Amino acid sequence: MINLRDLRLDDARALLEQDPLSQLVGPDASSTVYVQSVIDNLCELSLKDPLTGLSNRRHFYNVLSREIDNATRSGDSALLLMLDIDKFKIVNDTYGHLAGDLVLRAVANCLATCMRPMDTVARYGGEEFAAIFPNCPASFGEVIAERIRETVGNLRTPVSALNSAQVTVSIGGAYAPEWAHSTAALWVDRADIQLYRAKSEGRNRVYIDQHRENSVSAEEKSMLFNHRLIGDPAGAETVSSNASGHATDSHKNKVNSP
Ligand code: GH3
Ligand code: MG
Ligand code: MG
Repeated sequence: MINLRDLRLDDARALLEQDPLSQLVGPDASSTVYVQSVIDNLCELSLKDPLTGLSNRRHFYNVLSREIDNATRSGDSALLLMLDIDKFKIVNDTYGHLAGDLVLRAVANCLATCMRPMDTVARYGGEEFAAIFPNCPASFGEVIAERIRETVGNLRTPVSALNSAQVTVSIGGAYAPEWAHSTAALWVDRADIQLYRAKSEGRNRVYIDQHRENSVSAEEKSMLFNHRLIGDPAGAETVSSNASGHATDSHKNKVNSP
């Protein structure tokens, strides 16, 4: 039996009371139910970005790792998009930081409406977002990313009585390497390279890395096959010749800006 007076829950309770979305149970609940509710709500809070209410980077990496396991096990095709608001500094400089916050919230909301229930969208940091789409066929990636780019571009956020702000996003994407174990960092890197291309080629555009499961980077290959190199030199030879189609190149997949 838990005695609530033995626990120091004041800080946790104060934190949760400030969060409009927390659902702490009332004083009538049993001690166990109450403590469970505090824990559940704190977990929820620890996975959210306070400004936008989206998942935070911690949650994003949890989901990304889970999707990597899933793609390795089942060959499921999962897409990662990295999104960055274009020239956002100008919004802050023109309308002020609070207006910038309003725009960030509006974009976050807009992104959330573009997702299916099984997708995850997170604030990656600053004016950058990341979205994970499990079970996303390769032919859909560009359509999804384009739709997001257009939807955000059509958004107008009132920032004062007279003014509204309009922003665009650049988007880079990459699929999880199917059947091959990779790392979250490598996956993010591949999408980031595409985002960088979208920025450097004019912004407000989408690039998606097209390289598929046969194209495994050197680091990914070493993770896959190292154990065989140690215990089975013959096997290693077979594997290295099979995997010799190493390609980190991605195909250019430019989508016309409007
Ligand atoms: P680019 O198209 O190259 O991405 O240009 P940019 O201006 O968006 O990028 P830059 O990195 O120069 O500036 C990002 C800006 O985002 C500067 C920073 O103050 C602003 N920012 C980051 N986080 C927040 C936030 O939480 N609130 C507000 N209002 N601004 C933020
Ligand atoms: Mg940025
Ligand atoms: Mg930016």
